[in-house]
Amino acid sequence: MAQIIPKNRAGVEHNWQKELADSFTDPVQLLHYLNLPVDDFTHHIEARRLFPMRVPQHFASLMRQSDPDDPLLNQVFPLAAEFTQAKGFSSDPLLEHDTAGQGVLHKYKSRVLLIVRGGCAVNCRYCFRRHFPYSDNAINKQEFEQVLTYIKQNNEINEVIFSGGDPLMAKDLQLAWMAEQIANISHIKRLRLHTRLPVVIPNRLNNEFFDWFARLPLQKILVIHANHKNEISQDLKQNLRRLRQAGVTLLNQAVLLKGINDSADSLELLHEALFDAGVLPYYLHVLDKVQGAAHFEVSDDKARHIMAELIKRQPGFLVPKLVREIGGQPGKTPIDLHLHP
Ligand SMILES: *Cc1c(COP(=O)(O)O)cnc(C)c1O
Ligand code: SF4
Repeated sequence: MAQIIPKNRAGVEHNWQKELADSFTDPVQLLHYLNLPVDDFTHHIEARRLFPMRVPQHFASLMRQSDPDDPLLNQVFPLAAEFTQAKGFSSDPLLEHDTAGQGVLHKYKSRVLLIVRGGCAVNCRYCFRRHFPYSDNAINKQEFEQVLTYIKQNNEINEVIFSGGDPLMAKDLQLAWMAEQIANISHIKRLRLHTRLPVVIPNRLNNEFFDWFARLPLQKILVIHANHKNEISQDLKQNLRRLRQAGVTLLNQAVLLKGINDSADSLELLHEALFDAGVLPYYLHVLDKVQGAAHFEVSDDKARHIMAELIKRQPGFLVPKLVREIGGQPGKTPIDLHLHP
């Protein structure tokens, strides 16, 4: 019998939540999938107790088979080194724990950041949120009303940022409802989304998302989060293309990570791949000093050398700003790029 709903259309429409549910959460299954010998990883797997493993299948499909050094695998696979207590690394490097729960961070004058959703589709081992006491719950209606009142009373705010966790973990119905009310505030010009979901499940940028986001009467910015060129898949490119055609500004933020992307070669390729996808590199963050992630740290001096090389090799619009987030500062802190011999 003929299918009533064309297969590809049904696939694009509703599958992201199923993809999310089908993510790898068992390290052994991911090792099997990648043809890696489980025995070599037994002592690492314990680290899932510190922060659960969560890897959507699309992201896993971008990993190389049988390669324990794969740069995507090593962003998400638990590692015994996470048990190391490193000096200067804390569970709350940005001093944000006490603001959790209210759903809003207003640290930078013109921009207010809403914690729309606590959870993420992927658990990145280097993430400072590995110790953040967010629940997976979405911001509730009453909290959102309070946020709206706050924004209305603060004329200096012209941009609202949906963040998390990952804001695209929320349903489009809820996101559209929130965005619409924000768009009704006369001093708001822009809505920005910070999300890694399109990278790990490109189908998240489906028609339902497109319908409310592209139509929103605000300037729209989508900031994705990719650290390595292998994360920029054909599916992602395709789904980003129509957003760009609809006038959405596409940016990327990355984290400089030892063993993943800590070379000018790796970042140059990432930036080229991003531009091919219509995305400009925005920020390159140095690691937040979060307990359990010290093995990802790259020294400031090494970061400076990499930046010097990128500036030589790439046009200015493909060179991201190297920044550090320091609690209590009025914005991200740029890192001084002068090489000190
Ligand atoms: C990073 C961040 C922003 C956005 O900063 P930009 O420099 O505008 O990208 C806003 N609010 C908070 C709390 C942030 O951490
Ligand atoms: S907040 Fe971003 S970096 Fe952290 S776990 Fe979620 S997706 Fe990964």
